[in-house]
Parts: sequence; structure tokens; C-alpha cells
Amino acid sequence: MTLAQSKKLSQLTADNAQWEDRQLLRSGAVRGTEVQTEFDDEDEKKVILLVHDTKPPFLDGRIVFTKQAEPIMPLKDPTSDMAIISRKGSTLVREIREKQSMNKSRQRFWELAGSKLGDILGVEKTAEQIDADTAVVGEEGEVDFKEEAKFSQHLKKGEAVSDFAKSKTLAQQRQYLPIFSVREELLQVVRENQVVVVVGETGSGKTTQLTQYLHEDGYTTNGVVGCTQPRRVAAMSVAKRVSEEMETELGDKVGYAIRFEDVTGPNTVIKYMTDGVLLRETLKDADLEKYRIVVMDEAHERSLSTDVLFGILKKVVARRRDFKLIVTSATLNAEKFSNFFGSVPIFHIPGRTFPVKVLYSKTPCEDYVEAAVKQAMTIHITSDPGDILIFMTGQDEIEATCYALAERMESLESSNKQVPKLLILPIYSQLPADLQAKIFQKAEDGARKCIVATNIAETSLTVDGIFYVIDTGYGKIKVYNPRMGMDALQVFPVSRAASDQRAGRAGRTGPGTCYRLYTESAYLNEMLPSPVPEIQRTNLGNVVLLLKSLKIDNLLDFDFMDPPPQENILNSMYQLWVLGALNNVGNLTDLGWKMVEFPLDPPLAKMLLMGEQLGCINEVLTVVSMLSVPSVFFRPKDRVEESDAAREKFFVPESDHLTLLNVYQQWKANQYRGDWCNDHFLHVKGLRKAREVRSQLLDILKTLKIPLTSCGPDWDVVRKAICSAYFHNAARLKGVGEYVNCRNGMPCHLHPSSALYGLGYTPDYVVYHELILTTKEYMQCATSVEPHWLAELGPMFFSVKE
Ligand code: ADP
Ligand code: MG
Repeated sequence: MTLAQSKKLSQLTADNAQWEDRQLLRSGAVRGTEVQTEFDDEDEKKVILLVHDTKPPFLDGRIVFTKQAEPIMPLKDPTSDMAIISRKGSTLVREIREKQSMNKSRQRFWELAGSKLGDILGVEKTAEQIDADTAVVGEEGEVDFKEEAKFSQHLKKGEAVSDFAKSKTLAQQRQYLPIFSVREELLQVVRENQVVVVVGETGSGKTTQLTQYLHEDGYTTNGVVGCTQPRRVAAMSVAKRVSEEMETELGDKVGYAIRFEDVTGPNTVIKYMTDGVLLRETLKDADLEKYRIVVMDEAHERSLSTDVLFGILKKVVARRRDFKLIVTSATLNAEKFSNFFGSVPIFHIPGRTFPVKVLYSKTPCEDYVEAAVKQAMTIHITSDPGDILIFMTGQDEIEATCYALAERMESLESSNKQVPKLLILPIYSQLPADLQAKIFQKAEDGARKCIVATNIAETSLTVDGIFYVIDTGYGKIKVYNPRMGMDALQVFPVSRAASDQRAGRAGRTGPGTCYRLYTESAYLNEMLPSPVPEIQRTNLGNVVLLLKSLKIDNLLDFDFMDPPPQENILNSMYQLWVLGALNNVGNLTDLGWKMVEFPLDPPLAKMLLMGEQLGCINEVLTVVSMLSVPSVFFRPKDRVEESDAAREKFFVPESDHLTLLNVYQQWKANQYRGDWCNDHFLHVKGLRKAREVRSQLLDILKTLKIPLTSCGPDWDVVRKAICSAYFHNAARLKGVGEYVNCRNGMPCHLHPSSALYGLGYTPDYVVYHELILTTKEYMQCATSVEPHWLAELGPMFFSVKE
């Protein structure tokens, strides 16, 4: 930061302090200044860091941030059985986690190669055999079910198609899909209308066929057919499938784009992308000139970006007569979408579903992971052929479930019981793509498949051949957590609409059964009828930045289908003001305008741009890129000590961020070599991804004509850039490895894997990237900072008294 800027900032603080004083006088409160700690600075002078909270003038009279805005929880009653169970979490998951940590490491699923478990799961052998742990044998059938409501109507009886995919060519498969029977009518409606809402059961062919029909109907002769997906995995997997159906290389006629990954080319006429990608494209090209038609798929998911796109595309439709929009939804509440666009036609694809018998648990299920494992084993041993789909909330539970299932299968086999084979397959977004693809493959020699999935399998991905669904009733949902001051994924009961979708997965290829691991009363009384749209429960920082840059000055007037609570908007504006992206009247600052250019969370964008001002953008660019990929440190179970030692060699004692920078720079110095990564226990895939992200961010810097400055070996300024973006996450030392957030007193701990941990040097102040809630609140990626920096860079919160 230059002197002039720091002056500007202090002026701003002074203004704000005056404003705040006025506010407090009005409310009769005492100014909330608190002495945090005393410490000696280099000159051995006593310096005191004061903590306060200054609010921007644009919030004058509107809202007072004594408390963070309350998020809308996707829960009716926090004392209900389902709420309590979701807070407690699963004992089985903990047991398995412990078992794995006794082996000194948490093994990723795909690192099980060579183990018996790996064999059962079909992970290819590369490493030595892993010792089998003492197996836990489960007693089956403990969950009691009572038969209840019949699920969906039986619409059209067809033959149960096992081996269907095997026996038909891709072209034949296409013709078998429900959407094929209405192809002509559908295209006619699209020809006659600018906006159409298309409703159809999951698996009817909306995602894979609609785009191809539009291509075949000539919409791609002068433009691209775009199709948005709320999930990255779906965008990639569907693009791959469609490229196969069209017999073209992925990235040629059919491509996809997700953040930091653009697999499209000059020939691409069908482009699948995340809704976030299209939203960003509207920044560059407000009218989306390159698209002839956009399919907004999975609109019922109501993701944040989709909701914002609704408002933006509505305007594009009004401006461009040659532009068409199709909104697809799996559920039947399409009226709302239709009304939003001015009562546009709703086209129904006739479904082809079979009845699903729904069975509820008689009593609330204390540990739904354990219950699901037992239920799956019971089905496998006692029920007719047909694949099983289990819904879990996330990676941890999925891995634990797979692990437990494999163990139980193993112990049955070793006790010489005749059990048919079971192919256990996990699916979640972080799973490597080749393993994801496995869920679509038919199991060898008639084995039963058991897919353990997150809610991604609810509507985004359709797997045929599922006859049994086990629904835990829970899912992970992103909600703003006021205690942590950020969005966090939390486990909540799903909505009734979602649980009906889940049940429906069992009736795709024949009559099926759904086991709900919750009571009917929970279904009727505790679950919300439909999910709370993301826009109403998460931080809107990025959205506010984006809308502001689209010159939508009064966000409260934007055409939202369901407007977010005013508090959410104002709270996000406040956070952007804190970062310096908004000025005192709530408009974008120069910094804010630049921040919009980067597909990054506001603090990361700020860090990058502070790197520009501090003359270390080259280094900060690397830090930001490394923070945008999963951890690059590899910790194989059988070589924990060796790998920890390798990791420690990269440590920069005062900072995890700088440690990441160090890793990257050394990798670069070793010609970005893969074998070097292996030798140093680093994931080469992760590093390569970071390099890709880096080069894309570099392109943006080039277009903004920001020169690539470097600070050389003086990394203190890099820490300062980090501090400028994360001072809201400042924490002060309280005990060994123990910190508290300076502002809200929230405890936060150094993670044992942190460079700052146990090195005999514990700084008084740190800033952290984010808090991770596992057994404790752990700071993910921490860096030591000087209290002076906090006062200089975060003057709305901190000042020093000498
Ligand atoms: P919808 O969008 O209406 O839910 P989709 O177009 O996604 O339906 O799916 C149509 C069919 O294509 C389904 O039977 C599904 O199993 C199949 N399918 C979709 N993606 C893949 C894939 N990656 N591999 C194999 N089959 C797929
Ligand atoms: Mg779909």
C-alpha cells in the first residue's frame, strides 16, 4: 500500500468514526472499543491494539451490525429429531475416521489401491497390500419399516431394462428416451415462442437431448446453443456423453466450460457450462451475442447463479428478438418460472416412471450412516436383483459408508457365506473423473451395484437400473454461518420435494422401493415442502459485485424471482466496503471495478490487486492459485512420517500461504516435473491445476494491463497483501496453538499440519483463509501478521494506541 492510499484509508476511518459516533449517540450506546492485548513492538514501546467496528455511511439508518444478519435456515424446528440427529453426526463415520487415523492417515478413497477394500471397490492395484483392519460385522435388518404411501403414478409400463445400455447403440438409446416421442411438438413450441419452460422427470432426456434437437433444428448455424448446469460434475459428464452421442471429440462440436477450465473450441456449437460461467460471460457481453439459444437446466435447484441469471436473461430476452431461452425443471412447480417470464408456455415431457414403494423408519434413526449400511446389506442379501442408490450428505460419509460396506462384505466372504458380489461405487464432486464415470458402467458378471452419492444423484445425474433407494433424509447445504462469519456447508434435512426426487430414482427402469431412514411424521412435519433458494441463505458478495458492475445501482430493485432478505444484501455490501470494493455511498471503487474481472471470491481478488500495489503480484498470483486448488500435499497411509518430513522441508515458519508459494516455486525450479512431485510427496495433478489457474489469472492481468511485478525474496510484503484481504479473519494468540478471533472471540486453532504449529515460534497475530469445523475450529492456512498492518489495512476494525 502506498502512503497516499494509507492516508486515504485513515481519512475514511475518521469519517466513519464520526458517523459511528453519531449512530451510537442516537442509540445511546457506548462505543464498543475494547483493549485486546498489549505487546512490545520493535522499539520496545507498549502498543495496544484496539478493536472496534465501523460501519459505512451508506448503511446509515438502515441496519446496525451489532449482530450478523440471521440466515434463513432450511429447517423448521431446531429441536426436532432430524435437527438433533444432523447436529450429532454419525458415530460410524467417527469410528471409521478413528480407525483410519490409528493407521495415522486419512486415506482418500482412490488411494486404496491394492487393498482388499480396493479390490472390492475395483480400485486398480498400484501400491502394496494394506492391512485389513478388524472387521465389524453388522447385524442386519435392525431398522423397522412400515409400508406407507405409494409414490409416483405408474405412467407407462415398459419392459424392465437391465442390460439395456449394453444391447442398444447410442442412437437407439436416444430414441428410447421419453423426450424423443415429443421431439417435433417440442421443437414447434420453441419455434413459436421466445421463452419456454420444459418440465420432465429426471432421466427423460432434457439435458442430453434438448441441445442436440436444437442443433438439428438449425439453431447452431448462426450461434451457439448454451446449456447451464448448477454443478460442475454434471456439466462435464453430460458434455462428454453428448459428444459421444454426436461422435465428436469433447471440446470440438460439443464442449464444456467450468471455472478455470474451458474445453471448447472454434467449432463448438453445443456448450455446457456452469451457471456461474454464463453469469460471468454477461459481464463481457451483456447481450450474450454469441448464443442463439440458452437452456437453463436444473432451474428447480435454484442455485445462486441461476437465480441471478433469471433476472439478467429476462432483460436479454426483451432486448434481443433473435434470442431464445428454455428453462427446464425436474419438478412440477414450473408455474413460477413461467409467470416470471410473463406466463410463457410450459411444455410437459410425458414421463415413464414405475411405482415406487416408500417405506419409512418407525423410529428416528440415531445414526443414519450405520442404518444405511445395514439396510444396504439387508437388501443385498435378501432382495431380488437391482442396483442400490444411497444418498449421503458428503464425501466423509460416503467414504465411511463404502468402507463399512466393503468391510462387511469382506467379513461375510471370509466366513465362507455364499454372498453375491457387490460393486460399491462412490460419487461426489471431488472424486476424480475416471472414478465418477464408473457409476454409469454395468457391473461385471451380474454383480449388484451399490452407488453411494451426494444429492448430485437426485436430479443432475441419472443412473439407470436403480431399484432400491436408501434415503438418509439429509443433505449438505450452503448457509451463511454468522458464528464463523462465512458460508459453510452444513448438514440439514432435505425438503419433501428433494426426498420425493430421491425416491423417484428407484422407479426409472421398473417398480422399485425407497427406504426412508426417517419417520413419516418427520417427512410431514419437519421437512420443508421445497428447498430454500441459495440466494436467500448465502453470502452475496460476488453477486453484489457483479450486479454493481452491471450498473444495477439499487440492488433491492433488481428483478429477483425471490428477492434475498434485505439484510443479506446489506451485509454483503458491508463486507465489500470493508475490503474497499465499495465506497461510502455503496458504489464500486476503482478497486471494486478491477475485482469484478477475476473469477475469484472478493478477498482473493483483493489480495491479488494488493499484490499489484505492493509490487509482488507475481508471488501473490501463485498464492491465490494454490488456494484455488485442493491441497497438494500427499500423505500416503504407509509413509506418514516420510511424507510429513517432506512437507516440513517446504515450511516457511511464519506462513502457510508462503509455504504454498515455496512449494510452487520449487516445483517450477524443477521444470514442473512430475517425478519431482512424487519424490516430495506432492500431488502433481493439484500443482498442474494450480499452474493452469495461474496462467488464466495471468491472462486477465494482461488484459487489464497490470504488469507482473515481483518482490524477489522479500516475502514480508506478500504477507502484507494476504493481511489486506483477510484482516477480517484476524486472530490473536491465547494459548499453545490456540487463538481467538479478534472481533467475535470465536476460538480458532492452528491445524497440526500448519507451518506455524509446534515450531517453537507462535506469532501474536495471524490471519487465516477460512475456518474448518471438524473436531475443533481449525484455521485453514494461517499467516502471521503485524498488529500495525491490521490497523493500517483494516482501519474499520483496528487501531493501535502507542
Ligand atoms: P434429464 O436431464 O431429463 O434428467 P438426461 O438427459 O440427463 O435426462 O439423461 C437421459 C439418459 O441419458 C439417462 O437414461 C441417462 O442414464 C443417460 N446418461 C446421461 N449421462 C450419461 C453418461 N455420462 N453416461 C451414460 N449415460 C448417461
Ligand atoms: Mg438433467
